[in-house]
This record gives sequence, C-alpha cells and structure tokens, in this order.
Amino acid sequence: MNDFDWQEYSLETRAIRAGHHRSTEGEHSMPIFATSSYVFDSAEQASLRFTGQQPGNIYSRFTNPTVSAFQDRLALMENGERCLAFASGMAAIMAVGMALLKAGDHVLCSRSVFGNTVLTFQNYFGKFGVSTDFVELTDPAAWEAAIKPNTRFLFLETPSNPLIEIADIRLLADIAHRHGCLLVVDNVFCTPILQKPLELGADLIVHSATKYIDGQGRCVGGAVVGGETLIEKEIYPYLRTGGACMSPFNAWVFLSGLETLAIRMKAHCDNAFELAKWLELQPTVAKVHYPGLATHPQHELAKRQQSHFGAVVSFELVGGKEQAWKLIDATRMLSITANLGDVKTTITHPASTTHGRLSPELRAAAGIGDGLVRISVGLENIEDIKTDLLQGL
Ligand SMILES: *Cc1c(COP(=O)(O)O)cnc(C)c1O
Repeated sequence: MNDFDWQEYSLETRAIRAGHHRSTEGEHSMPIFATSSYVFDSAEQASLRFTGQQPGNIYSRFTNPTVSAFQDRLALMENGERCLAFASGMAAIMAVGMALLKAGDHVLCSRSVFGNTVLTFQNYFGKFGVSTDFVELTDPAAWEAAIKPNTRFLFLETPSNPLIEIADIRLLADIAHRHGCLLVVDNVFCTPILQKPLELGADLIVHSATKYIDGQGRCVGGAVVGGETLIEKEIYPYLRTGGACMSPFNAWVFLSGLETLAIRMKAHCDNAFELAKWLELQPTVAKVHYPGLATHPQHELAKRQQSHFGAVVSFELVGGKEQAWKLIDATRMLSITANLGDVKTTITHPASTTHGRLSPELRAAAGIGDGLVRISVGLENIEDIKTDLLQGL
C-alpha cells in the first residue's frame, strides 16, 4: 500500500485501506507499534533525523507508525494534505490556539461551540492577552462586523451542539480570507463522511476522534487536518514540544473506527431522521431541532453542504427542566451520558451538564433553554429507541 495514488479511490475505500504501510512481516491488519523510541543505524543518521534532514521515526511523542497511519488515513478522507493526531479533541483545539496565537491577537468564535472550547479561548487564552468575541453562528453579517485588524482566525462548529444550527462554511471562509483571517472548523458532528470543510474553503479542521471516529465510546483522541504549510510550519512544532500526543493504542482503535465510519454514519443519520419526524408528532414536544426537517431554518443549506443531516437531534419539552429530567430518568435503555457519536443512543440535558459551567448569560445567548434535551441517535432498532422515550413523554 506504499505507493498508491489514493486520489483515484473513493472515500469509503480510503477509509479502509489508506495509511497502512505494510511492514516486512506482511501483516494484514495495522499493528500497534508500542515503542517510545527508535534505533538509528549510526550517529549520523540520528543527527539527520533530529534535524529533519531525513524523514523517519524519532520518538513517539511526534512520530509513531500506528499514529501516522491514522493521520494519513484521516487526511485523505478529509481531502487535506496533512493531519496530526492529539490526545483529545480539546488538545487538538488547544494546539491550534497555541500554534497560531500570540498576545494581542483576537479570535472570533461561534457562540454555539462545545462548552470547553468557549472556556479554552475565554479563560486560558484570555489569561495570556488573547481576546475572544463570540458571535451568532448563523449570521454572516455579524461575523464580518466583529472582525478586527488583529483577528487571527474564525472558529466554528457546524452543525452546532446542542441546537443543530448550520453555518455556511463557504460564505464564512470567503469573509475570513477577505480580512486576512483563517477559518477553523470543528467537524466532529459530520465527520468527512457528511461534510468536507476544506473543500468549502476552511483552512483547518479539528476533530474529536472520541465521537463518531471511534464510534463505540472507548477511547479519547483528537486531530487537526489542513494544508501542508500550516500543519508543517505551525501545528507540528507545537505537537513536538507541547506533547499532547495520541497513544498508539488509541490510534489503532480509531483506525478500525474509520473503516466502518461510512456505513455507520449513514445508519446513524437514517435513525436520527426517523426519530426527529416522530418527535415532531409528540404533544409534549414544543420544538424539534434537526436540519432534515423542512421546518429547520437552514434546511436548504444543510441539503447543499452535507451529504446527510447528521445524527444528533435535540428538542424542547413544554415543561422546562422538571419535564426534561423526568423524561431522562424515565428511559430504561438510553444511556444518560454526555458522550455522543456512539452506537448506543445517549440522552443528555445540556443546560445542567455540557453547558452547565457557562454563565447563565452565555447559556441564554447560546439559546440553550432548561427544557432542552439532546439525543445522539445510535444504531439500536429505531422502534426500541421510540419505545424507551415514549415512557417519559
Ligand atoms: C467532544 C467534542 C470536543 C472535544 O473533544 P474531546 O475528545 O472530548 O476532548 C470538541 N468539539 C466537539 C463538537 C465535541 O463534541
């Protein structure tokens, strides 16, 4: 598999075969290279490796064959030139910030991003003189108006969590580039199977491999994907020094996750669409947030930008927090956990969990009400998922 031109192959095939450079043992499945360092032929070779004059493995914080296979495969799936793996999705986001930002810089971030992403930019980068403004994800004019001369990048998730709003990536990439900024897209909810942000003009993609890429809720990991120059010159030196690397074991789990990602995503999306339509008919449900529904404000954009509508559905209950907790506690099969992207369906109350550490003002601005329930639709039989929910509705 060494000298394949993967550009000739489809996404599904790349997901299964790309990235594995078979060793002299002729193994069929990618091995786990459990080694922290590598042996050099000579002092000269060691020197050439360390100074980057000769490619090859040096130390597993930044070079490991199992991790490299995962990186190469995900890069090919996203149609990116390079990918770097990290210890978690948050470590990947932190790496983007650490690599690209300096004191005095400004970040423009969607209001509707993962709670820890808000805290990373606001609290941690804020401590070192980087300011961040949060804007409405779906309002391009608001993004453009908030750009400052010192804005380094725009950061967003689409679809957003937990309201499943969709941003126009191409439009925001054009706005960013017109002002000399980069666009960073968190592609966790869609994965490369549903959406390709780099093709739409984004400069970098961040991933939490913990979610759909693993797919079975076992390992924590993350990745950054982008062009050769940005990754090689900016992100790689930070990974090598900062050290939040992915373990070979986790990379091995994620590699097999990628192999089934295409069929899993399609099945997840079919289940989610079915559940969203069913939830709309329930009298105690005030509103369903799902881009596959014609009532969704960005339904047309979702159809254009994504190949399927995604597998996270959220809905508002008439009775507020009390009713939301009651519904969650009445389920018997669904997992009460904040994780998502698992074959097991999970149910969560965002206002008191994933978004509970945000100030009530930020939470209100993000539109996360007390009656909101989020479901990451898994691969169980859809009728069993409905039956489980029906008890609490
Ligand atoms: C989970 C998640 C992250 C963070 O990833 P971890 O692997 O948990 O660190 C970032 N963005 C989104 C959209 C997520 O769902």
